[in-house]
Amino acid sequence: MVTEKSAIFIIFGGSGDLAHRKLYPSLFRLYKSGILKDHFAVIGTARRPWSDDYFRETVITSLKDYFDDSEDIMKGFAKHFFYQSHDVNDSEHYIALKNLAAKLDDQFEAGHNRVYYMAIAPRFFGTVAEHINSEGLKTEDGYNRLVIEKPFGRDLDSACELNGNISKAFPEDDIYRIDHYLGKEMIQDIPHIRANNPKLEAAMNNKYVSNIQITLAESLGVEDRGGYYETAGVLRDMVQNHIMQIIGAIASDDPEATDAKIIHKNKTDLFSSLKELTPEGVDDDFVRGQYDTDQLGEEKAYRQEDNVAEDSNIETFVAGNIQFDTERWSGVPFYVRSGKRMPEKSSRIDIVFNDKVDEVGIKPNTVITLLIERVNGNSILINGINYKESGQDFISFPEEAEFDKAREAYESLIIDILSGNRVHFTLWDELRSTWKYIDTIRNRWDEQTPDFPNYLSGSMGPDAAEILLERNGNSWVWDD
Ligand code: NAD
Repeated sequence: MVTEKSAIFIIFGGSGDLAHRKLYPSLFRLYKSGILKDHFAVIGTARRPWSDDYFRETVITSLKDYFDDSEDIMKGFAKHFFYQSHDVNDSEHYIALKNLAAKLDDQFEAGHNRVYYMAIAPRFFGTVAEHINSEGLKTEDGYNRLVIEKPFGRDLDSACELNGNISKAFPEDDIYRIDHYLGKEMIQDIPHIRANNPKLEAAMNNKYVSNIQITLAESLGVEDRGGYYETAGVLRDMVQNHIMQIIGAIASDDPEATDAKIIHKNKTDLFSSLKELTPEGVDDDFVRGQYDTDQLGEEKAYRQEDNVAEDSNIETFVAGNIQFDTERWSGVPFYVRSGKRMPEKSSRIDIVFNDKVDEVGIKPNTVITLLIERVNGNSILINGINYKESGQDFISFPEEAEFDKAREAYESLIIDILSGNRVHFTLWDELRSTWKYIDTIRNRWDEQTPDFPNYLSGSMGPDAAEILLERNGNSWVWDD
């Protein structure tokens, strides 16, 4: 049964790319499903002086890229949208926002609930949060939830500073830090799959797992985001957040837990037992790469992309061996890999079992592959075959883990925000541990000059990424 939710959304950066490509389409889906119906309004803010009508037109235009619903339905939805021009540093503008939100709350009977969504550049997150608090935007008798987009800092120090600023204004329980991978169905289903398959769960430890591989590969290069990429690199852009959170889903204890506090504690415990890296350990366990042109010399090398320095040392590929000092996982390599201009887009987790796993009733050396993005309807492969046809009886799926829900990550995360469910958001304690780990790698790399470019566009990355596994007698399951 659908339960209608009520709230006033204030979207800082309401004219931006994220708002138009992700947030408005997701809100529209919630509108069509009745989760948002009569008791909500969206205030978009940005610097430009737009009218409500113009703002609504931009919203409808972006919806048309994704939906073929009638103009009437779209217009009905857009009637809930209002625009307020706003400069993040101007206190007066926050008072105007507060008054508009109060007026719309009366008009739509939104229950004094507020969702403050930061779809703006990260350097503004702290300022906006502080002003929301100091200018009295928060309501007394509804909820006030702050949604923060990535990136949450660029190293431990900047993340600490940002967290200090926002937590002066909002208690941790009201902060929803987005990692959109946590909104993806397959990632959300992993704990269900583990909890509902006793044989599988019995094998999820260092007695039976040889290694776990996580690959987030893209076939595209940086396209028009060279300027941003020069400040990030794949280690910050993919490993610190998405890959670590995927490991959290696959490796945390107690997958049957449903209480957000317990789930977060398990994840925090896991990340705080990341095996400490020494600078020399970084040289052994992590590989970085930057794409060159392709074999035919037709594609641009990274250093030829727009807004990229000719001698850039930013990495577009990373592979590493991450380990944990826990009873369950000690000694098991979590091989992670992410890169641009790889042969194809692929997001997958490969769990490689050893030859003793028949002790718990699983065929020796079984490989289970979880496809994070669904390909041709298959989300799980066992030894390369769709699990339903694999004939292996050790794995079964509860009804709710069937893979046809087809909810977009942002849609699912917005429902969680409206429901006060923080399970699929990242906590500060998790970020602190993962940033500390990533900083060790980054600092080591910054001391050395890499031999870039070192892999061809369309290849699996530098050879060192293969050697990283071969050294331990392993190999990547996904290989071109
Ligand atoms: P964008 O540049 O398209 O939009 C930025 C918005 O901020 C615009 O509405 C702009 O008017 C507003 N703005 C800029 N300066 C302002 C000021 N001084 N006062 C008030 N408003 C101001 O950016 P985006 O791509 O939509 O990204 C927004 C946030 O979301 C960023 O933190 C980004 O890292 C994050 N993010 C974006 C994506 C994506 O797919 N675009 C994905 C993940 C995370």
